[in-house]
Amino acid sequence: MKLKSLLVAATAVISFASVAMAEGTVGIAMPTKSSARWISDGNSMVEQFTAAGFETDLQYAEDDIPNQLAQIENMITKGVDVLVIAAIDGTTLSNALENAAAAGIRVIAYDRLIRDSENVDYYATFDNFKVGVQQASSLVDGLKARFGEGPYNVELFGGSPDDNNAYFFYNGAMSVLQPLIDAGTVKIVSGQMGMDAVGTLRWDGAVAQSRMDNLLSAYYTDERVHGVLSPYDGLSIGILSSLKGVGYGSGDMPMPIVSGQDAEVPSVKSILAGEQYSTVFKDTRELARVTVGMVEALMNGSEPEINDTTTYDNGKKVVPSYLLEPVSVDASNWEEILVGSGYYTADQVK
Ligand code: BGC
Repeated sequence: MKLKSLLVAATAVISFASVAMAEGTVGIAMPTKSSARWISDGNSMVEQFTAAGFETDLQYAEDDIPNQLAQIENMITKGVDVLVIAAIDGTTLSNALENAAAAGIRVIAYDRLIRDSENVDYYATFDNFKVGVQQASSLVDGLKARFGEGPYNVELFGGSPDDNNAYFFYNGAMSVLQPLIDAGTVKIVSGQMGMDAVGTLRWDGAVAQSRMDNLLSAYYTDERVHGVLSPYDGLSIGILSSLKGVGYGSGDMPMPIVSGQDAEVPSVKSILAGEQYSTVFKDTRELARVTVGMVEALMNGSEPEINDTTTYDNGKKVVPSYLLEPVSVDASNWEEILVGSGYYTADQVK
């Protein structure tokens, strides 16, 4: 009897201790599971928030805007302490975030800027302009290596027009390509330029594949494509299917140089097979680390570490940001960067 009451008391102390230890609850709204990077982001955050003593509520919205909005509204109603959001459409959350602010919930924009809202406290991301610079620089290096001095026939693809990042990637890439276009070294044979013409809604690989099919049949019956600027691995895979479908990569039709982003497994395999030329690695473990640090600071009432206070104007305010460094990856350095960092094992990508 005595032992039993001791046990009951001990259990009460333990459960009290675990309640007292929780630093708060973090609602994590991710866009989709259809791309492996967001799965890694979610997993890394849950792991690191849990280790830091937080409870988490992780939700994926399968790229459906009303679904993501409902998930976020639900988190607000449940009374999370902080919201971490990678928005599907960065412009659709203003009302929900007003409610969050009224309830004292702090908000971190994760990877993608949330636009048109005062109620975004911090932004954790990569240097998105630099991602575009790296994509175009590796495209140009590949063109020189595979096709000599040029001129080169190139087509451009952009990301989703409702994702603020897509403009940064495109503008970063054009900072490298525009001088070459002006000099006549790079020719955009279709003439399709600017995000209005080259954007790919919801980053959908099937949409990119069918646009590439159309470009090939409309503009490349007498010409060869030498390069394609692709801002994301999921698009690159679609673009490569289209190219392979008309014979590129076999016989006397060398594979065009195709860029990418996220170092997703199918694209790393494609690079090793000599198809996709490059990708950009963004270590999602590091982005999770920065985000957990921001949340810890917010909860302690201290200032999160930031390294950019000028770049990310969301239409209402310049959101204080922490930008991580992206890394360009191709057949020459994939092992050192992706396996050396422990992001993948060699077996996963071979
Ligand atoms: C992310 C990229 C990703 C793309 C598609 C962007 O907002 O920054 O890493 O490739 O969305 O998911």
